[in-house]
Amino acid sequence: MIGGPRSVGGRYFVQNPGPTNIPDRVLEAFRRPAIDFADPEFVALADGIWAELPGIFGGADEVVVLTTVGHGAWESALINTLDPGDTVLIPDCGLFGRRWARMARDLGYEVVMTERHMRRPTDPAEIADILAADTDHRIRSVCIVHTETSTGAVTDLAAMRAAIDVAGHPALYVVDGVCSLGIEPLRMRDWGIDVVVAASQKGLMMPPGLSFCALSDRAVERNRSATTPRFHLSWAPRFEKGPIYNRFGGTPPIQHMFALRTALDMIAESGGIDASIARHRRWAAAVHAAADGWSAAGPWEINIVEPKHRTAAITCVRTGDLAAGPLISVARDRFRVSVGSGMMTEMEGRAFRIGHLGDLNEPMLLGALGGLETAMTVLGLPHGDGLPAAVASLAATSGL
Ligand SMILES: *Cc1c(COP(=O)(O)O)cnc(C)c1O
Repeated sequence: MIGGPRSVGGRYFVQNPGPTNIPDRVLEAFRRPAIDFADPEFVALADGIWAELPGIFGGADEVVVLTTVGHGAWESALINTLDPGDTVLIPDCGLFGRRWARMARDLGYEVVMTERHMRRPTDPAEIADILAADTDHRIRSVCIVHTETSTGAVTDLAAMRAAIDVAGHPALYVVDGVCSLGIEPLRMRDWGIDVVVAASQKGLMMPPGLSFCALSDRAVERNRSATTPRFHLSWAPRFEKGPIYNRFGGTPPIQHMFALRTALDMIAESGGIDASIARHRRWAAAVHAAADGWSAAGPWEINIVEPKHRTAAITCVRTGDLAAGPLISVARDRFRVSVGSGMMTEMEGRAFRIGHLGDLNEPMLLGALGGLETAMTVLGLPHGDGLPAAVASLAATSGL
């Protein structure tokens, strides 16, 4: 039984970049018995969450809650803002950028992509050039992945806004914040972002099943004129404050909302979103230190070359000529530490991805790194010492 008490097995360490470890309090919230979704108690709970969500995104004018995964929110963000056949710009920044672009194409939109880049974030200057060349403004939306979970890059969203402005381009600015909400600074209002797509199973410490589209007034305006056919994923019935059933596009996900309430409470009790961001920076620094330690005597290499371009959410470690598969299997099956595999082209089977997001503390992180290092040792894979470097990093930033 995965993660369960198959024997005296201890905890299963979920260090995938989503889903993440779920705190017991959030799991407990799912056990609350069902109530009528029209019960004033549930409506009040949902209204309370709706009132709080804009702040989590750094100032949204509306937030739509969808009972689906990140893909549903991606699709929702496209069909609610575009006319059939419209053109969108989606950089080729890794697996998630590619998938979003493929979705847009399959939905019948024209997609402009950049050159593929897997070892750095999207360059705002490249976006500015593409937009400047688009003199008749065919590109209607610029869709930027904030944290690219397949590579470990984080895009500078403020610089991207500046790039759109330098080009004087009126495109809608749409951001995939699935793997950055609660992890990286995300300031919709300050950075003139029109849509942020997010989901429950990354920085919010929940299981998959809820996703979000946070909207600026400009996005709401665009939504009114957008003519792509849509029904269930349509935004308008969700922010016209009608019956609660319509605001969720169907039966409200009652237990997920209980759990979201708890997750938001836990984030607030721990100092709010800014403290959550700071915690993730610490975890990331410790993982980078461990990876650098391993690399002292082995092929290990953090995929994102420039430290300032690395996200606080995940670290993708390349394994050179070594096959990553056995390491991933032994870490998971023998030591119960699960990490993600390398994604796309040369990284398939030649990288692993450690998630350091969600519900974590120092011993959990060290346990995960220790499980990986033990697996390297068992397999005879050459590596330097990662753990002491992680310990030193966490000690230096402990605040004590
Ligand atoms: C996880 C993730 C997604 C996809 O989310 P699903 O819930 O699996 O649909 C999209 N974008 C990014 C950046 C992600 O990390």
